[in-house]
Amino acid sequence: MKIGIIGLGLIGGSLGLDLRNCGHIIYGVSRQEKTCQRALERGIVDYASINIDSLATVDIVFVCTPIGLISPTIQKLTPHLKSETIITDVGSVKSSVVNECEVLWTNFVGGHPMAGTAEQGVEAAQKNLFKNAPYVITVTEKTTKNSIKILEELAQSLGCVVHTCSPEIHDQAVAWISHLPVMISASLIAACVGEKEKTVLELAQQLASSGFRDTSRVGGGNPELGVMMAQYNKTALLQALDSYRHQLDQIREYIYEERWDSLEEILIKTQKKRSPFIKTQHNS
Ligand code: NAP
Repeated sequence: MKIGIIGLGLIGGSLGLDLRNCGHIIYGVSRQEKTCQRALERGIVDYASINIDSLATVDIVFVCTPIGLISPTIQKLTPHLKSETIITDVGSVKSSVVNECEVLWTNFVGGHPMAGTAEQGVEAAQKNLFKNAPYVITVTEKTTKNSIKILEELAQSLGCVVHTCSPEIHDQAVAWISHLPVMISASLIAACVGEKEKTVLELAQQLASSGFRDTSRVGGGNPELGVMMAQYNKTALLQALDSYRHQLDQIREYIYEERWDSLEEILIKTQKKRSPFIKTQHNS
């Protein structure tokens, strides 16, 4: 197939490496000339350009720009495409993106390959990033069967495990397992550094070990990405935060009232219920 990729960063570049390895011909488009040059040097693409009209003959386009640029990019792209070309995106949030994009192009199908690293840009692109990772394909009443089938086959060829659901269900699920943990983890760090007693804070910093490292990891990540999650997945994230706050209040109450049995009941339940969330390990 002839495949177009717009945005040759971590996700777009990694898709290029693997899809090219599967024998497809990759047409890359990025904002900067130097990124196009590096993508060619690194074997991410067969052709690269800063001009979107270079994608006129491709069969499918993956839009891999930052989320806020997905629909403006598709708006610029559509006048240059043949009508049967499929457009998909890789945005980490789906409802707002899919709502805007599916009215722009009949053969649009939303997608989210759930793999990544802390790095960004063309140099961060790597082979096999998506192996064993979930690939969510979002389906609405407007999505055509053919575009779902083609995207599903491509995702499977990358070694991904495909899940299909509505954009709304996707956003609620990622609010729980990705966006809420970032906000909780960031709040943990912010609360700790709010310690007024200097000697306590310094000692805490020296004593912090694997427990703190695990629980603070996602809160110490890319701030832009965190803001993006909140901005584009506001409704689902607020619901998850409210529920979390309620749970935290309950735990606080049990401790304040010294209801150790009730606290133990919660901890026994959470010990049992954790495993279904972490049974498969992948990069995300
Ligand atoms: P990234 O490494 O920063 O790559 C984005 C690339 O988009 C940049 O290299 C930039 O290229 C290019 N770009 C920016 N504006 C553009 C424009 N107007 N036209 C064409 N190209 C443009 O970001 P990323 O992590 O790959 O994220 C890209 C998308 O993947 C986002 O929508 C994100 O939600 C989604 N996603 C991210 C992850 C993750 O863990 N990072 C996981 C799954 C999905 P230049 O170098 O040419 O400026």
